Amino acid sequence: MKVLTASATVSINGMAMKKRANGERVFNLAAGDPVLENHPKIIQKAVAQAEKGKSPYPPVEGIPELRMLAAEWMNASCRTRYQKENVLVTCGGKFALFALVCSLLQEDEEVLIPAPYWVSYPDIVKMAGGKPVKMEAASPNGWKISGKDLHQHVTEKSKILIFNNACNPTGVVYTKEEISDILSAAKRLGLIVISDEVYSGLVYDGRSYISCGSFPEHKERIIIVQSCSKNFAMAGWRIGFVLGSESIIRRLAILQTQSTTGTSLISQWAAVGALEDADEVNRYVKDQMQRRRDLFVHTYNSLFPTQIDAIPSALYAFVPLSAMGIQATRDSTAFCEQMIALENIALVPGNAFGVEGYVRFAYSESEEEIVQALHALKRGCERLIGGKA
Ligand code: PLP
Repeated sequence: MKVLTASATVSINGMAMKKRANGERVFNLAAGDPVLENHPKIIQKAVAQAEKGKSPYPPVEGIPELRMLAAEWMNASCRTRYQKENVLVTCGGKFALFALVCSLLQEDEEVLIPAPYWVSYPDIVKMAGGKPVKMEAASPNGWKISGKDLHQHVTEKSKILIFNNACNPTGVVYTKEEISDILSAAKRLGLIVISDEVYSGLVYDGRSYISCGSFPEHKERIIIVQSCSKNFAMAGWRIGFVLGSESIIRRLAILQTQSTTGTSLISQWAAVGALEDADEVNRYVKDQMQRRRDLFVHTYNSLFPTQIDAIPSALYAFVPLSAMGIQATRDSTAFCEQMIALENIALVPGNAFGVEGYVRFAYSESEEEIVQALHALKRGCERLIGGKA
């Protein structure tokens, strides 16, 4: 067995669940699951499939209806040019990433990962026998990397860049020019780009979203990971996609024959329900998430003296400990442990994302949960600062 760390978000979520099971009220701002009723269109299709009363193995690359709809959704919303044959259906975006890294990487090859990064990237790379190479994006640069950073970190072993736009945990959204600069550098350096776009539909305040798939000149080196978990609030259905060349899709389908054998048919039909009306279902989720973001920022700013700005995308706020009056030297894991112990509030420490001195809040919970959690946070910080803990 390779030595791996359990995903920090999953394990903190687990601690919160345990406290809840013991009858305690826990404020869970750790998970990043858009807590919403499923849109009725999702349920209708899933129920219709269940009522057929048959459960054969699914086609390993996904049902044709869903592959086609996923291509059409990306083409309409992200100006890409995919066809059904360019789409693989996976058990969530996480397995899409895992399958891709496993099938592309040879032992000891390197994967460039901008930090702060989604917690699972480094371990996925390690599981595939590769080496994660962290590229720190600095907060004064708006947490963004550029083509120059790729040049600085690349070695003869570098094979892949994992690029996450819109970004978990920072909410950063890249412009067309910034993406073009990064893709041009990737081309010069011969890197494959895995573009994790699972928050593409959760970009707020009328901003537009630019997909790496909308640059035809880079088509051959770009592979996109998508998901229904966030854009359509379907995390538990476990539906993700890979979009790329027909040859990579065929390769990954073979990997799925020896691993998942494809994705649950009922879940695939549920996703058909979402994608048949992708704009409507996504707007239902996005409007709610933007409201929760506004509530989070407003409540936070009314409780703490250092103000935070509205986050442009995704479901998270990545906040420095110093903004809560906590010494910048304090370690973020210790802070999160104290918050759950003192005030039953679950958060994720910045170091799980490769950056110390920060905490990630997920504002995808109900409005009541957000407000109560922030008041609990305020009490917890006061206890820490006042030396009562
Ligand atoms: N990529 C990013 C950046 C994420 O934040 C997540 C989940 O939190 C995923 C991929 C995987 O999502 P899922 O496996 O639910 O599709």
